[in-house]
Amino acid sequence: MLGAIEAGGTKFVCAVGDETGRVIERIQIPTTLPAETMTKVIAFFKKYKIDAIGIGSFGPIDVNTDSDTYGYITSTPKPGWKDYPFVQEIKNALSVPVGFNTDVNAAALGEATFGAAKGLDSCLYITVGTGIGAGAVVQGRLLQGLSHPEMGHILVRRHPEDHYKGKCPYHSDCLEGLAAGPSIEERWGAKGIKLVGRDEVWEMEGYYIAQALMQYILILSPKKIILGGGVMNQKQVFSYIQKYLQEFLNDYVALPELSDYIVSPGLGDNAGIIGSLLLAKNALEEQE
Ligand code: ADP
Ligand code: ZN
Repeated sequence: MLGAIEAGGTKFVCAVGDETGRVIERIQIPTTLPAETMTKVIAFFKKYKIDAIGIGSFGPIDVNTDSDTYGYITSTPKPGWKDYPFVQEIKNALSVPVGFNTDVNAAALGEATFGAAKGLDSCLYITVGTGIGAGAVVQGRLLQGLSHPEMGHILVRRHPEDHYKGKCPYHSDCLEGLAAGPSIEERWGAKGIKLVGRDEVWEMEGYYIAQALMQYILILSPKKIILGGGVMNQKQVFSYIQKYLQEFLNDYVALPELSDYIVSPGLGDNAGIIGSLLLAKNALEEQE
């Protein structure tokens, strides 16, 4: 049996399942201080005979296995979690191989294996929620360099009517600072879910996401683009993305039918947890 942890800023989802992506049991634990949250996480897994655990974590995290701080959550503003040795804590408590990657990389892996990009050797998974992040499968592997990509923080051209300062604590008006859920809320004075009928909100959202997708397409040429996260529940954003992407790319690269190319997660909300089961599977195989 495999274990999976989808570690988010508001909640941890823990599950046990198998390498076919089947989830046998799952729980949710609020993200408070590490001592409290992790005690519950470890108690959950102790009930089962687990062969390996996969973690898809909020970040930034250290995924470089040669690094002294491999397995750490590095620079989060979340109290208690900065420089937290996540993998080491799990290994000490449960003595099993641990796979460790970002939440969006886990989701990309899940979608490439069982979801909307099944059968493809490349895809991009993007979440537009409290933050914006993306994970990429390239030539059948998760893309990694010095560290994991941080595609949510790219610079974008401003919408001519957008005078909002931006919300990213590092860059103000990067993509995340202009287009993640909290920036929508601050700019328009209401939560996204309350802005359903306001077309200008979703047009602007589509304008920013389309720019990001253009850049990702030009650099990575993914075979499928999957857009998840709370904000993408506003399905009207997809048509604005298509409209602006068409306009910006101006037929420079040939793409499949956009409604088939840019899609919602095939695994729904389970992409991250199923991907984390696959991280566990990979960790087990690497050890054997
Ligand atoms: P997280 O990023 O914390 O994992 P979500 O992906 O649910 O969680 O993203 C939360 C953000 O998405 C919040 O800013 C919230 O306002 C926004 N959001 C959630 N549901 C909707 C919706 N139906 N329409 C628009 N925005 C939404
Ligand atoms: Zn930023």
